Amino acid sequence: MSHVIPVPKQPTIAVVGADATFPVRRIWCVGRNYADHAREMGHDPNREPPFFFQKPADAVVASGSTLPYPPMTKDLHHEIELVVAIGKGGTNIPAAKALDHVFGYGVGLDMTRRDLQQQAKDLKRPWEMGKSFDQSCPVTALQPAAKIGHPAKGAIWLKVNGEVKQKGDLNQQIWRVEETIAYLSQFVALEPGDLILNGTPAGVGPCKAGDRLEGHVDGVGDLVITYAAEGAARKAA
Ligand code: MN
Repeated sequence: MSHVIPVPKQPTIAVVGADATFPVRRIWCVGRNYADHAREMGHDPNREPPFFFQKPADAVVASGSTLPYPPMTKDLHHEIELVVAIGKGGTNIPAAKALDHVFGYGVGLDMTRRDLQQQAKDLKRPWEMGKSFDQSCPVTALQPAAKIGHPAKGAIWLKVNGEVKQKGDLNQQIWRVEETIAYLSQFVALEPGDLILNGTPAGVGPCKAGDRLEGHVDGVGDLVITYAAEGAARKAA
């Protein structure tokens, strides 16, 4: 079939130990899935059902990249998260079977223009301009579950310029990965290629041009992202 414009490039993520890549279909993000982070954002961490928002598939960017500081914000925040890569689709997936639908796991960042998100919250508007911008989803190569299993506990942390800013444990998730998949699959048909960013622990905060972000999840991997220095960004533009 021919097309009237060039077919958009398929966003992909590398897979550890494989030449083949993981094609990204949609990116689902879970809000407030660690009690300490819910508290720091001014919310009751009681076990309300999870809620979701999306980033576009082409927001993914490989670990190791140097990125321009994004436009239209003065308050770019880091949120380090476990990334769940769906390998097998389904609807109304039972939690007991949900992990069978996972291809693998990565370490990701739900980068957030917090000022725009806050403005949207205040005005009861959608979050997209705060959450779903270009290059807002750095992610490591995926570790296949066939190799590492399904991490349910272990450290998750983020450093900015070598200083620890976020620190938690996967066992602090309010909704476990299998529960999140089961719940989300009641609302939409999950498909191979979908990613789920399963929420961030406490300690979110700002980063600026020139900052180096290092993220880690035990048994999954290490992520590095650098925001170009202000002068460098201007020169490149
Ligand atoms: Mn998040």
